[in-house]
Amino acid sequence: MPSVENRGFTSNAFGVLTSEGWVVVDALSTPELSREFVKNLMRVKRAPVKYALITHYHLDHWYGAKTYKELGAKVVAHRNLLEVYRSGEAHRILEVNRQRFGTLLKSVELVPPDLVVDERMLLQVGDKRFEIIALPPAHTDNDLLVYMPKEGIVFVGDLVMKDRIPFMGDQGASSKGLLQALQKVKELRPRVILGGHNEPMDLSAVDFTVGYVQFLRENIRKLKEQGKSIEEIKGALKTNPYSKYVMYETFHNINVFRVDAELEMEE
Ligand SMILES: [Zn+2]
Repeated sequence: MPSVENRGFTSNAFGVLTSEGWVVVDALSTPELSREFVKNLMRVKRAPVKYALITHYHLDHWYGAKTYKELGAKVVAHRNLLEVYRSGEAHRILEVNRQRFGTLLKSVELVPPDLVVDERMLLQVGDKRFEIIALPPAHTDNDLLVYMPKEGIVFVGDLVMKDRIPFMGDQGASSKGLLQALQKVKELRPRVILGGHNEPMDLSAVDFTVGYVQFLRENIRKLKEQGKSIEEIKGALKTNPYSKYVMYETFHNINVFRVDAELEMEE
């Protein structure tokens, strides 16, 4: 979890060097961190930052976006991220996060996207081509996939995890949608999957994530059919093959609660 001690450095950002300049994916948790990231990119090659693609609105992916904006980059995000910004909801969440994470987020300013993706956007930047896909609700209701077909690389934000528990507790999350998003990632047949919290992954990571989501959905459905209460379901699913993975203690019970409510709605 982000903290003052770790400076909020809990997630990945990526830079793609094109013949016209950098395209960055995600913004880290604070403007301080994204400034350091850009400094490192400039050590590789001094070139303008042309576009910043934000995979979703969570603090460790979006809150450092001010740096990119100041450098003249065009910020690209899901249509719903703009909606959440405009409605004031994003600012309300920032305030809650400020209460929770103390001074960590003091210099954060929310940056709305300059370009929004409704379904699909093709972005050609110099010699590199990006297919940006806006997904229906999955990890959040504003997830983007960024695919580079020639390179066989896909940026997945927090949709794919390896040996780590995915978070399905966001107010806009959908476990059913997450399974569909993971299927979409599979269909792209990527060589490399770049996510928000792992080293570079391959398709085995998609299988890992699908496995956990299906495990939850199938078992919770079964227990509900037996008339079990949410507390009994939590108890029954406390120890399982996934208990040894990173973030289990933090995310698992929230996920159970969330999927239980979701299955209620699906019936
Ligand atoms: Zn996230």
